Amino acid sequence: MKQLKYPQPIENLIESLRQIPGIGRKTAERYAFNILSWQKQDLFNLAKVIHDMPSKISKCSTCRCLKSDQGCQFCTSTSRDTSSLCIVASVKDVFLIEETGVFKGLYHVIDHLFSPLDGQMLSKEDLAPVLERIQKLCVKEIILAFDSTLEGDATSLYLQDLVKNFSVSTTRLALGIPMGSSLDFIDEHTLSKAFVGRVSV
Ligand SMILES: [Zn+2]
Repeated sequence: MKQLKYPQPIENLIESLRQIPGIGRKTAERYAFNILSWQKQDLFNLAKVIHDMPSKISKCSTCRCLKSDQGCQFCTSTSRDTSSLCIVASVKDVFLIEETGVFKGLYHVIDHLFSPLDGQMLSKEDLAPVLERIQKLCVKEIILAFDSTLEGDATSLYLQDLVKNFSVSTTRLALGIPMGSSLDFIDEHTLSKAFVGRVSV
């Protein structure tokens, strides 16, 4: 049997921390020893926050963004502009755009991009909820906020085609987003400029 470097409970903590992308063994060890130095109450608090996560966070059935047990911060808000709908590929993108503070409409998360080469298809059925929302909310503007990649472009084209018979204007993020880049890797200022300078498609 392989000799453990640390007592088993510490090894367990290190292995759990290593599941986070970008955290290697050495970093996980440092984090684990930092956590070990915490007061008992702080350890209980952290454990409780993590323990409660599955019951307190879920996907909003309307916009598919993450919501707390208090409800969806976007769909339940009375101050958002319901005539403007921003369609994104992932939940994380919603919060990236929120940080820029330039958008006050609603969001819709489609969960993945159209990428036939990776077997990731988008069907009309997948997009039926967003099409229904566009009609129900009487949306006037659709903003397609996808990564500037072939998959992002393919998804935009696919959606543009699906909404072409609705009386909506469709725009895409443009300025400042280099080809091939993910929204996650551009700074807040660039994303904000790209949002304000969105172009009709
Ligand atoms: Zn929602």
